[in-house]
Amino acid sequence: MKKTLIIANWKMNPKTTKEANNLFNSVKAGSHRIKKTEVVICPPFIYLPFLKEKGRLKLGGQNGFWEESGAYTGEVSLLMLKKIGAEYVIIGHSERRKYFKETNSEVLKKTKSALSVGLKPIICVDKVSQIPDFSNFRKEEIKNIIIAYEPLFAIGTGKACSPKKAKEKRLLIKHDFVLYGGSVNFKNARDYLLEAGFQGLLVGGASLKAKEFIKIIDSAEKN
Ligand code: PEP
Repeated sequence: MKKTLIIANWKMNPKTTKEANNLFNSVKAGSHRIKKTEVVICPPFIYLPFLKEKGRLKLGGQNGFWEESGAYTGEVSLLMLKKIGAEYVIIGHSERRKYFKETNSEVLKKTKSALSVGLKPIICVDKVSQIPDFSNFRKEEIKNIIIAYEPLFAIGTGKACSPKKAKEKRLLIKHDFVLYGGSVNFKNARDYLLEAGFQGLLVGGASLKAKEFIKIIDSAEKN
């Protein structure tokens, strides 16, 4: 994975398919020249089938269940995500840990399942101790795992972590591909890539504003 990775986490937004299409099409139009960046849009599951004409954009899920199918009311399997065209999946986002009590062992199960169906897992952590133990994973599997360092105080608050502090954490994470997430905007995006040395960004709120998100992609292209 050599490209800078920019992930858009739309969370539970926008409210309608029409708005989702408009947002997607605006980002697609603004990113038709990207070369050095891989841009992944992670919408609510329900919009995935509508976002077929992807241009240079890739799709991801915001979650997924480890069993392939069965009596698990309300769940969507990682296999289903893959079959609908997703290439990535966010796992263990802090909002899932907080509101849905997702645990480290569930994160591990989801990671294994994602890899087995050919999805690249983006594992969100606020502490180094939340990173699963990869000692039983194959080298090729580890290469496809992305860690997103997301300090809790910075998620959705507008209080971004200083690039210096983020870099200190980055150096504690013994993994090749690490993203920063937490109140990223077009003004600070470049600092996390250049100054703090992250390989990409996980963007929440700012990914819902096409113009701002395109500026973030542009800063990654110039990186
Ligand atoms: C996120 O959703 O992971 C996130 C970092 O959100 P925001 O950019 O809004 O802080």
